[in-house]
Amino acid sequence: SIPLGFFGGIGAASRSGILVKGSNYLEALNDVKVVVFDKTGTLTKGQFKVTGIYPANGRSKEELLRTAAYAESHSNHPIAESIRAAYAEEIAKDAISDYNEISGHGISVNVDGKAVLAGNARLMEREGIAYQVPEQSGTIVHIATGKQYDGYLVIADEVKEDSARAISALKGLGIRKTVMLTGDAASVAEAVGRELGVDEIHAELLPQHKVEAIERLEREKSGREKIIFVGDGINDTPVLARADVGIAMGGLGSDAAIEAADIVIMTDEPSKIATAIGVAKRTRRIVW
Ligand code: ADP
Ligand code: MG
Repeated sequence: SIPLGFFGGIGAASRSGILVKGSNYLEALNDVKVVVFDKTGTLTKGQFKVTGIYPANGRSKEELLRTAAYAESHSNHPIAESIRAAYAEEIAKDAISDYNEISGHGISVNVDGKAVLAGNARLMEREGIAYQVPEQSGTIVHIATGKQYDGYLVIADEVKEDSARAISALKGLGIRKTVMLTGDAASVAEAVGRELGVDEIHAELLPQHKVEAIERLEREKSGREKIIFVGDGINDTPVLARADVGIAMGGLGSDAAIEAADIVIMTDEPSKIATAIGVAKRTRRIVW
């Protein structure tokens, strides 16, 4: 027979905006000792704003921003949305061809018949383009046209108001370690991680590196200890599927993430992870 308390627990969770896909996942939350967060869209708002435009090689700011907006015209990454918002003008779609999104790197595309690259330092290195190393902290998008460097944009995201509360609530529930995984630059990751009191930070990861990081944490844990991964699903669906308990932030998250996750948070509040663990603990007390 199925213990009634499990239904009670799933019901209680759903009343808090937490969708649990099976009683086994609620039960597993009792044994969670490590909570791993994606950064962008999970601990931060994922609503980037362009805060600086730094042209090089004789380009104007207007030219640089236009090239960036055209390159990013097909991407649904929050970085791309911020660049299009900063440009604010109509984009002539017939100027764009051969569009390629390179996971964890950026974009390769033809704009007005010229090969344009828009992405991080790793993309520039891969393509053999000498780029400036910015002094500003923030997410940097470098632009190059026809293998010539055009300059860079600085893009800033904000930490969610709820994130610090989320981390401290987890510590109060006996979580041994909080971890942040991100594809973003180490400087950005460390600033966010330090502000929030995250124990361990891994930056500049490609999506497959995030899976490897989860696998390593799973090897390090003992006995019945469980690991949660929390993500918004942009690029992290494989990690959601790999973790003992994958939790998607449904507020911003993609359909694929909601599909791959074991638990879905219907709001964009990471503190709901602690709420879910609290419900699991109370449910166990009622069942046994
Ligand atoms: P996160 O782990 O923070 O969710 P992603 O894996 O989505 O980050 O992206 C990692 C990095 O790849 C970004 O910080 C950015 O440098 C680069 N990148 C990804 N998509 C784009 C894009 N559309 N335009 C420019 N850069 C991008
Ligand atoms: Mg992400």
